[in-house]
Amino acid sequence: MKIGFIGLGQMGSAMAMNLVRAGHDVTVFNRSPEKSRSLLDLGAHQATSIAGACKGEAVITMLADDTAAAHVALTNDGIIGKLRKGATHISMSTISVALSKELAQAHAAAGQRFVAAPVFGRPEMAAAAKLFIVAAGDPATVDACRPLFDAMGQQMFPIGTEPSAANLVKLSGNFLLASAIEALGEAIALVGKAGIDRHAFVDLLTSTIFPAPAYKTYGGLIADNKFQPAKFAAPLGFKDIRLALAAAESLRVPMPLGSLLHDRFLRLLAQGGDNLDWAAIGGLAAQDSNAG
Ligand code: NAP
Repeated sequence: MKIGFIGLGQMGSAMAMNLVRAGHDVTVFNRSPEKSRSLLDLGAHQATSIAGACKGEAVITMLADDTAAAHVALTNDGIIGKLRKGATHISMSTISVALSKELAQAHAAAGQRFVAAPVFGRPEMAAAAKLFIVAAGDPATVDACRPLFDAMGQQMFPIGTEPSAANLVKLSGNFLLASAIEALGEAIALVGKAGIDRHAFVDLLTSTIFPAPAYKTYGGLIADNKFQPAKFAAPLGFKDIRLALAAAESLRVPMPLGSLLHDRFLRLLAQGGDNLDWAAIGGLAAQDSNAG
């Protein structure tokens, strides 16, 4: 397919590479243009503006947050103003339910199609084309995007016809991940302060009653106390908890754990955690207990 790709951060650059490798005709755009160099070497085309990435059948966005996504999509010089009628905007960033609804309306009014397709999986999984993609929108449009999803992920889960459903599922999943990180952090601090081997504890649990990738990945990082390089930066994790809580508030769903996580992220960021992986909230319990 002839497509554009906007947002070449840790996730986007790996995803765009896999699209090029799969034989798609990909034109890339990033706010900081130097990040496109390796993609151009691989055969991607360079756009010098958002408009330049909007000339194909579809444009994918993989941007940091709502501010970035709204800036790129919702202006006359942005996707809404430049994508041709009938073409599709595939929004893969983790953004708010509210912005996803706004995008769906704006694209419909402009005669364009809109699919929300946020992902589960860190940059290593993106590089290996192993992402789990949660997609929502008009079923025929989602289906037409399948060759792109196949190039980036190991599985696509259609979750409904209302695009914002995919964003709510993604935010709920990240709430669950952050809860697991906090719980792991507290348990590892407890055994660690008692002098028990932290790695042996994580190995025991993840090979028996908690054999999930999330417990293995984050348990290992917390036991190692290794939060750099940040593969998923703490400010982005904080953003997801805030967006989950905003969705919960508008649906009137109390999420007391979400409020606790909000404060854990605030503590981490207040003490200089901006450049750490979001797993670093799992290191706070050890700090609080003076266990190192
Ligand atoms: P990242 O490395 O920080 O990349 C962010 C991208 O957004 C960059 O291309 C950046 O451009 C662009 N951007 C930021 N602010 C912008 C603005 N105001 N205008 C235009 N572009 C802007 O983040 P990432 O880890 O790839 O994450 C991207 C998205 O995927 C986020 O929504 C994140 O929550 C989600 N996600 C991440 C992971 C993960 O493990 N990392 C996993 C699943 C989902 P510059 O290069 O110019 O800064």
